[in-house]
Amino acid sequence: MTDGPKYGFDTLQIHAGARPDPATGARQTPIYQSTAYVFRDAEHAAALFNLQEVGYIYSRLTNPTVAVLQERIATLEGGVGGVCCSSGHAAQIMALFPLMAPGLNVVVSTRLYGGTVTQFSQTIKRFGWEATFVDFDDLDAVKAAIDDNTRAVFCEAIANPGGYITDLDAIAKIADEAEIPLIVDNTSATPYLCRPIEHGATLVVHSTTKYLTGNGTVTGGCVVDSGKFDWSANDKFPSLSAPEPAYHGMKFHETFGPLAFTFHGIAIGLRDLGMTMNPQAAHYTLMGTETLSLRMERHVENAVKIANWLEADPRVDYVTYAGLESSPYFKRVAQICPRGAGGLFTFAVKGGYDACVKLVNALEIFSHVANLGDTRSLIIHSASTTHRQLTADQQRAAGAAPEVVRVSIGTEDADDLIADLDQALSKAAS
Ligand SMILES: *Cc1c(COP(=O)(O)O)cnc(C)c1O
Repeated sequence: MTDGPKYGFDTLQIHAGARPDPATGARQTPIYQSTAYVFRDAEHAAALFNLQEVGYIYSRLTNPTVAVLQERIATLEGGVGGVCCSSGHAAQIMALFPLMAPGLNVVVSTRLYGGTVTQFSQTIKRFGWEATFVDFDDLDAVKAAIDDNTRAVFCEAIANPGGYITDLDAIAKIADEAEIPLIVDNTSATPYLCRPIEHGATLVVHSTTKYLTGNGTVTGGCVVDSGKFDWSANDKFPSLSAPEPAYHGMKFHETFGPLAFTFHGIAIGLRDLGMTMNPQAAHYTLMGTETLSLRMERHVENAVKIANWLEADPRVDYVTYAGLESSPYFKRVAQICPRGAGGLFTFAVKGGYDACVKLVNALEIFSHVANLGDTRSLIIHSASTTHRQLTADQQRAAGAAPEVVRVSIGTEDADDLIADLDQALSKAAS
């Protein structure tokens, strides 16, 4: 099919990027389990290597199954191109790589997935990059944190672990004024609930491991480019605007226009960093995207019921779900993610750390795992697991205080999930 805005989300999540296999007519996208692709002749090979012709060379760079997924996610996000990678964390490095250099920094939200806090506060220092952590509800603080060496602003649309909603429009305006891109991690929201590019984001990153695949089978990531940023407006982004020695002095932005970031991601990023998604993973994620909207609707419906039930329960101190009328983020749901606040939130159990540990041990349907976005309901006590490496202050700032557990509400019967929480809360209180 020709992809275009004339099709609705439910149609695009099944068809975007895919067409019947030209060789066999296979209706489902085949898993092209091939490392290399035969060149028509020497001239064809030369044109591909010079980036003068688009085609397949070697699966570290491009693969036909992965290409379908890239186009599908880019279409669902309203971007011009996407690059899939081996994990969500790989996608974050792939998004920053063309923008950063030693001595440069990125301004990031304090409310992030625990692994991202570690990647940004520790690991990127080895590249000579710095991250400045700021409370993104404090717009003046975000502005003040941006300096001459800042090359990007980074946040999550629906932020981990509490399900807080970021005011993307306000943050995008600040990034715009500073002439730097806004990168939004849209993993928890998915393009069904939130489309960050419509709120001014330049780049969208995903851990496709989560809702896009939807069943906890494979890890993967994706970087989507809006195609809207002017990389040549100044000399801040030489990887995209200046001559590239590895391609005979070709300038990516001048040559590929709105597709500059996507081509750079493949021709430099995947070529040299090698964080490639394999075709099997792309296959599982393509299966997942076909039912994305159906699952997200149920995730939201269940999360609303369960959050309301928990909030009314005397054994629970508070619930952070933005879909609750009591949430300070409730008004932002209509602005940022009008189809719902997602399926992810935290709640505080009376009795603190010990009660949380008992609760997690007593649950029968909820699985105690370090994952989210599965059809299965999942729970984790962040302070003793994913956020264990953080200081108590960092845990609180990130919404992962010792007395809270994070749940990822699945698509099971809401009544069964409530009954499970009910019996486990009784055990936690005893
Ligand atoms: C899981 C997750 C990541 C990291 O993705 P991986 O696929 O595990 O590398 C990043 N951001 C968010 C919001 C996540 O949930």
